[in-house]
Amino acid sequence: MSTTLQAVRGMRDILPEHSRYFALLENCAREVLTAYGYEEIRLPLLESTELFKRTIGEVTDIVEKEMYTFTDRNGDSLTLRPEGTAGCVRAGIENGLLHNQVRRLWYGGAMFRHERPQKGRYRQFHQIGVETFGMAGPDIDAELLLMTQRLWRRLGVEGLELQINSLGTPAVRMAYRAELVAYFTAHQAQLDEDSRRRLQSNPLRILDSKNPALHHLIAGAPQLSAALDDESRAHFDGLRRLLDGAGVAYRVNPRLVRGLDYYTKTVFEWVTDRLGAQGTVCAGGRYDGLVAQLGGRATPAAGFALGVERLVALLEEQAAPPPGAAPDVYLAVLGEQAESLGLLWAEQLRDACPALRVLVNCGGGGFKAQLKRADKSGAALALVLGDDEVAQGSVGVKPLRHDVRQCTWLWPDLLQAVSGCTAADVPRLLARND
Ligand code: ATP
Ligand code: MG
Repeated sequence: MSTTLQAVRGMRDILPEHSRYFALLENCAREVLTAYGYEEIRLPLLESTELFKRTIGEVTDIVEKEMYTFTDRNGDSLTLRPEGTAGCVRAGIENGLLHNQVRRLWYGGAMFRHERPQKGRYRQFHQIGVETFGMAGPDIDAELLLMTQRLWRRLGVEGLELQINSLGTPAVRMAYRAELVAYFTAHQAQLDEDSRRRLQSNPLRILDSKNPALHHLIAGAPQLSAALDDESRAHFDGLRRLLDGAGVAYRVNPRLVRGLDYYTKTVFEWVTDRLGAQGTVCAGGRYDGLVAQLGGRATPAAGFALGVERLVALLEEQAAPPPGAAPDVYLAVLGEQAESLGLLWAEQLRDACPALRVLVNCGGGGFKAQLKRADKSGAALALVLGDDEVAQGSVGVKPLRHDVRQCTWLWPDLLQAVSGCTAADVPRLLARND
């Protein structure tokens, strides 16, 4: 007996009723990003494993336990990308896009992390990522946030809170790290297993813990803001001034750290309370050291990634359903001659009115069955082409949504009538011929 194959755990099929919302978000993001002067870059899904070890950090959740890593036929260790920044920086250096240049780049696509699947957390998920290079000041940080805010507005997504923080320079973080280790070591008995492990490897990540039992302990931990160097403080104050001036509401969250090692200075998250535990829909910040860390010349950089599935979940809750693929007209074809003429005429109709959605009946069927399909398709009109119409060079027009009489058009007249019309006007126009 053969067993039915299923999708891999944590990897979802995105069916048409949902893919419409994905397309809505992707189209809107492309429009907004393009309007701000961002250019699309398309990057491979596979990179060498070394790239992620060197950028994300050896002791992060991603590198320690979430990567899809395998050895290929040449014996090379490859990894399905868990995020896009590393590949984008690699591509920027390799293709000479970064040195002495200002760049605004974006990309979209699938990312892979072997996490425990749950609502808002999948093993294959999608991000739209934005990376900027060559701009050191807080102005570009502010632009990134204004741009995301505009995207939420355009999408009609409401109730997102912007949280910001500064992680300072690597030197500040080293000093702060020592303070944290001292604090959490003094309270070691209260730590969970994960945090105890992080205490040695990556103590800042304890602040990012999702375990409610640790919240009280974390709230009492020393704050990084108290240890900030002058330059980082000036940068952060500058960002706050720009956001205030532009009317962007935010909350300074001194506990905000990002999961990845490469961040410096500004970090931010857009958060909602409507998605349960997986409430961060967009996250990013500055990573001034990353380009040099990968062998390029030192280049300031900042960016973010937004979680497409989580935003789609918000859209599905809030936005009007985007229009489906219902055709404007359904062409019913009865008989051999009509079948072949129908395909030709449908092409002529598409030439005359390119935006018109024309569905041709394929797969045969009698008149009644075809009209049933036409009705089910959601089309406003059925065009009927049978032996009589073929002989007369005409087509029958049957309105499906309104109680209007059927009428007949000579084909050349119909083509002339619809040419240059908007698709939305065509059904009404054709329904009124006599
Ligand atoms: P989290 O704390 O939720 O694990 P993260 O810090 O690992 O997030 P980033 O690497 O910053 O996430 O990725 C940016 C965004 O991508 C997240 O804010 C989230 O919206 C989305 N994202 C991350 N991991 C997943 C996943 N496994 N499934 C769906 N979306 C995800
Ligand atoms: Mg994560």
